[in-house]
Amino acid sequence: CGIVGYVGHRPALDVVLDGLRRLEYRGYDSAGVAVLVGDGLAVERKAGRLANLEARLDEVGREGFAGTAGMGHTRWATHGAPVDRNSHPHRDTTGRVAVVHNGIIENFAALRAELEAAGVELASDTDSETAAHLVARAYADGDTRGDLPASVRAVCRRLEGAFTLVVTHADEPDLIVAARRSSPLVLGIGAGETFVASDVAAFIEHTREAVELGQDQLVVITRGGYEVLDFHGEPAPAKPFTVDWDL
Ligand code: GLU
Repeated sequence: CGIVGYVGHRPALDVVLDGLRRLEYRGYDSAGVAVLVGDGLAVERKAGRLANLEARLDEVGREGFAGTAGMGHTRWATHGAPVDRNSHPHRDTTGRVAVVHNGIIENFAALRAELEAAGVELASDTDSETAAHLVARAYADGDTRGDLPASVRAVCRRLEGAFTLVVTHADEPDLIVAARRSSPLVLGIGAGETFVASDVAAFIEHTREAVELGQDQLVVITRGGYEVLDFHGEPAPAKPFTVDWDL
């Protein structure tokens, strides 16, 4: 339902939680965050209000989330009950890849079956989790090996349905990859910080310089900027605009 991603110089957990709060008006049943920390990924997810997630973060200790790149999600369940283990972000079995997803992956049953046949144990009932395993496998092997944007592109070409996806890999702590088809994705461009979100409301307290992604486009964001590509890796035109409405 709501998505925020951030690569910058501030504590990502705060930026992401603020962004999710700005998207609360859309309604949701669960929430979660992932922050790139050191050479790993810290993740917490919780069914219910954002306050439940925040209480959980206080319980485990927010110091474990001290990083400047991360993402968050508020879920409106379509596949799988609104319980903790179906909340986003979803991870692959190594825990090094995390994915948040808005929309519906229509061919998820076939993708799940393929993953299960390959010995992958799925941890949720969602359509979304398949994307995390597929990206991890693409990154680990074949001609997309070690290349996160290429891995996400390869997976997007296999997905049917509507999606906004944001993907992080613990091996790539300085970038976040996001992609969209038939579901919204906008960028916020700041000084030494870049945002992705399902709605500009998530970042307009930080920047009003925005870029709207087109259909079947993917973006790689870093602290220094962004690059928009199509699902085949060709540079793609995206539309910059200035948000001129008030908070
Ligand atoms: N289909 C996904 C799920 O049920 C994403 C739902 C959403 O857009 O929040 O988990």
